[in-house]
Amino acid sequence: MREKEVTARIISGKPSADDISLDTNLRPRRLSDFIGQQKVKGNLEIAIAAAQKRGEPLDHVLLYGPPGLGKTTLAYIIAAEMGVSIKVSSGPAIERPGDMAAILTNLQKSDDFFIDEIHRLSRLVEEILYPAMEDFAIDIILGKGPGARSLRLNLPRFTLIGATTRYALMSPPLRDRFGVVYRLDFYDEPAIRAILKRSAKILNIDIDEASLGQIACRARGTPRVANRLLKRVRDYAQVMADGVITESIAIEALSKLEIDPIGLDEIDHKVLRTIVEKFDGGPVGLETIAASISEEADTIMDVYEPYLLQLGFLERTPRGRVATRLACEHLGVTYKKGRPPQASLW
Ligand code: ADP
Repeated sequence: MREKEVTARIISGKPSADDISLDTNLRPRRLSDFIGQQKVKGNLEIAIAAAQKRGEPLDHVLLYGPPGLGKTTLAYIIAAEMGVSIKVSSGPAIERPGDMAAILTNLQKSDDFFIDEIHRLSRLVEEILYPAMEDFAIDIILGKGPGARSLRLNLPRFTLIGATTRYALMSPPLRDRFGVVYRLDFYDEPAIRAILKRSAKILNIDIDEASLGQIACRARGTPRVANRLLKRVRDYAQVMADGVITESIAIEALSKLEIDPIGLDEIDHKVLRTIVEKFDGGPVGLETIAASISEEADTIMDVYEPYLLQLGFLERTPRGRVATRLACEHLGVTYKKGRPPQASLW
């Protein structure tokens, strides 16, 4: 169990306590330092330049994609590029409508307000945001019962930046109030290599191309995972090889973490094997997979599934998840084509 938790944390794009200082050191501060995601970067550059030309705050921005791809980083970069300050909170932290109203009424003109995991705001809290985003105002109810009346408070113009790993869980009225929506994709290998090089330079790590390649191919297209693996390899080399990172030391360090050459860990393997071996290749529901391997369905959906889908190892069908031929080839097991639909009783 302990082993599983350690490995799970390494390949997860979600931040762990260890990541906090790493994040602060390595987070790019300006758009020009932000590597990859060319489309998003290009669109943001134009949006920022246009807003600055008009002397107005940026439209509300929604960033979505799997954890560890740079949503928080971009939120800070947007504030830096616009030359404004940023207030930061998260969906689960804003519990009551009053909390949201307090934050909003404390915003200064042009401030950025970043809400991470915005899909986790409760509906009541969300409703405070609707007029705030649309009309820069909030409605406060004074008194109770028949004598209650509503008072409209004007807010300064601000930019809401929302980040979510679950676009589909956001309510349509909230989604619709964002002027721009950017989806972050997994990074390709050259981009991950460039991120690793930048990080190695900042952390003063001497590392050759071959070792970088070994880390890059296991990083699941995720900068946070790449940085974490780099740090693990550095630590391993420090203890086992006088701090000298060679390709064989890198491979040794990475294999100790039980991550396979394409970045899959024990849980990815369990997910795929469960579908193939227990459920004849699928389709099988996510909850059933989660119960079979004693993992949370949310963790599988946020952390594991996106990368398996990206690799083409898993398919989502209306009747559940199906393991593909590619997955079976990677696992070295016989491919069984998904079960045919159940014959109708009628
Ligand atoms: P998210 O908010 O999507 O979970 P973060 O913005 O916290 O992800 O990014 C995680 C870490 O990955 C950051 O601290 C930063 O070091 C690194 N990172 C993310 N995107 C990039 C990038 N495009 N270039 C360089 N480093 C990046």
